[in-house]
Amino acid sequence: MPHPTQQSAQPLPARMAGVRLPGDSTVEHVTVDVPTPGPGQVLLAMKASSICGSDIRAIYREHLGHGAEAYQGVVAGHEPCGQVVAVGPGARRLEVGDRVVVYHIAGCGMCAECRRGYQVACHAPFRAAHGWQRDGGHAEYLLAEEATCIPLPDNLSYEDGALVSCGFGTAWEAIEKVSLSARDRLLVTGLGPVGLATAMLARSLGVTSIVGTDVSADRRAQALELGLVDEAVAPDAVDKTVDRVTGERAARSPSTARATPRPARARCATPARGAGARSSVRAAR
Ligand SMILES: [Zn+2]
Ligand SMILES: [Zn+2]
Repeated sequence: MPHPTQQSAQPLPARMAGVRLPGDSTVEHVTVDVPTPGPGQVLLAMKASSICGSDIRAIYREHLGHGAEAYQGVVAGHEPCGQVVAVGPGARRLEVGDRVVVYHIAGCGMCAECRRGYQVACHAPFRAAHGWQRDGGHAEYLLAEEATCIPLPDNLSYEDGALVSCGFGTAWEAIEKVSLSARDRLLVTGLGPVGLATAMLARSLGVTSIVGTDVSADRRAQALELGLVDEAVAPDAVDKTVDRVTGERAARSPSTARATPRPARARCATPARGAGARSSVRAAR
């Protein structure tokens, strides 16, 4: 293994504690080697590593993923945030001490999807998500590609960073897909963490009319309490509410949405695979 070109003054341990999820609602504590960063890689001391809905759904109880989504028995945790403690040869941007969020999927970096920033859609055989196909954040240290690390602004905590890495990133992708802007009215379907993040981001983009829906009355109440939605309705009241808010009959599904002409045009996007999200976004102009 190549030696890191830069390492923290504090000596790093040879072994570290980590967590794997073998299934059957079991958490397996393991002790593994602390990795050494290779070319273009960095070693991070983990400061926050959150648990995603997709972890619970697809690997904690039983392993549901296939192919690119299959869990490979690695250290779990795809929402890591930490501090650089060693930099591998050829790393060009990060230095020891930098605080970073980790984008959880490393693609090939060469295909059209990777080049436009959608490593989630990379089909190269060595595409790997932390916590699924390569070691994740539920350990003391994490080996990451420098290219997948995003500097964390000083005014955000490590916990903020862990939430941003997958939850808000997933929400942002949906918002980008529908090209949301302040002139839109928005329906957020599902008011869990990703749905709330969607509403929060939409608010900051200037969207003034946001309707949320969820089967859970508690989640609807929380979304209202946080001021993230203007109305929170049960699923059976969505159609009527959307008709009232848009002033016309809006589209009901992605397929009909595309065919609906302005000004009642409504569009719908669902976050990409692997994100564990149950939320979707519909915007109307
Ligand atoms: Zn996640
Ligand atoms: Zn790729």
